[in-house]
Amino acid sequence: MPKPIVAIVGRPNVGKSTLFNRVIGERLAIVEDIPGITRDRLYRETAWMEKTFLLVDTGGITGNKNDPLDVKVYNQVKLAIEEADVIWFVVDAREGLHPLDQEIADLLRKTKKPLILVGNKVDTYDPSLASEFYALGLGPPILVSAEHALNLGDLLDQTVAEFPVQQKEEEDAIRVALIGRPNTGKSSLLNALLGEERVIVSPIPGTTRDAIDTPFQYQGTNYILVDTAGIRRKAKVEEAVEYYSVLRAIRAVERADVVLVVLDATDFLAEQDKKVAGIAYEAGKAVILVVNKWDLVEKDDRTAKTYVEKLRTELSFLDYAPVLFISAKTGQRVQKVLPEVFNVANEFSKRIPTRALNALLREALFRHQPPSHKGQQLRVYYATQVKVKPPTFQLWVNDPSLMHFSFRRFLENQIRENFGFIGSPIHFLVRARA
Ligand code: GDP
Ligand code: GDP
Repeated sequence: MPKPIVAIVGRPNVGKSTLFNRVIGERLAIVEDIPGITRDRLYRETAWMEKTFLLVDTGGITGNKNDPLDVKVYNQVKLAIEEADVIWFVVDAREGLHPLDQEIADLLRKTKKPLILVGNKVDTYDPSLASEFYALGLGPPILVSAEHALNLGDLLDQTVAEFPVQQKEEEDAIRVALIGRPNTGKSSLLNALLGEERVIVSPIPGTTRDAIDTPFQYQGTNYILVDTAGIRRKAKVEEAVEYYSVLRAIRAVERADVVLVVLDATDFLAEQDKKVAGIAYEAGKAVILVVNKWDLVEKDDRTAKTYVEKLRTELSFLDYAPVLFISAKTGQRVQKVLPEVFNVANEFSKRIPTRALNALLREALFRHQPPSHKGQQLRVYYATQVKVKPPTFQLWVNDPSLMHFSFRRFLENQIRENFGFIGSPIHFLVRARA
């Protein structure tokens, strides 16, 4: 299910970060923190009334056009607004209407996106604080206190009510996202993939506003390339490019089954590649690593091997992802991309019968002692695959706290050796047997 994006916007000090932190609360990370991935605190996944969404914090708008840093922040806010499905425009209700609020309102009015005016710092409810914000022409503000978590339920109710209605998607289609740093060759690959021989149905609006997806058929299989408009659209402002590509990737990944992480062979594994690849990993999607511009690399018989080794070291968290070396420009091996997507998509939605799984489990436990701690040994009674996309295995054990990373790794490797799951992450849920 694609997740809507909610962006928090406003001038400095109105309480945007406080609101962000309050709403996301303390949530347990679903995936392990990977050393080396600088995790952006810019966005977090959260949920309200069983509706999951991504909350994006933005820097404060100062209106200062002379300070390069302020201009950079401003450009990033504009991009966040472009990517958002719902915008929270935060004002300081205690301090009252500020001239900058009016400027920001003018910017936001142009977006035509659902906009919720949030009057913050109302620690003691006082409806009269709302009145002067009517001048913004955005309707009445909803009064909250981020600090004391007051009225946030109303804010969230209004927010989820604005989420785009889930459109019926072509159920059998494989959804593919292309992500990567700017200039790695995503548009070129997109064009190469949508080459003439494919039957291109006319573009359909995506489930998220502004996202244009492109369905097509290849060898009898339906594919949807998500956010084709976003791949072609380049961020206009130089400094905002990185921020934009991250946000775009977050949104595209959410809506995909298989993610093609496009890397540039001539500028291989720049710092930002890790960040972009981390997005696909964290979202639990199937991944293929595509090393593009292979035509520009001087090669001998060891070159590809060296590239793979570097990938496995630098992006070790994606060790399950197959690697393709292509040239979008010359077309070299581009014809391998969709067959690989097809394979990986099948692995991603594969189900292992419970009997086969438990036979494997028994054998694995026989060969490898489960960990113990303070005289207590982990016992794994039973396993069952509870979910696909990503394949998720529930393990019934005596005490989940005895489950160690290395043992989980061992089980994961056993499952991969026996059942494949190439390109697909494997998740575990560990439960104590009642
Ligand atoms: P940002 O710059 O918009 O991200 O604002 P911050 O979240 O950093 O908050 C700015 C200041 O306002 C901090 O000192 C917060 O503690 C304070 N603040 C935020 N929300 C509230 C609130 O609901 N009530 C009160 N009294 N103070 C708040
Ligand atoms: P995007 O920003 O990721 O969409 O990248 P583009 O597709 O716009 O490509 C950026 C630049 O790299 C353009 O000048 C492309 O012509 C060039 N490019 C893309 N793929 C290849 C390739 O496989 N080989 C070579 N030599 N150039 C490429």
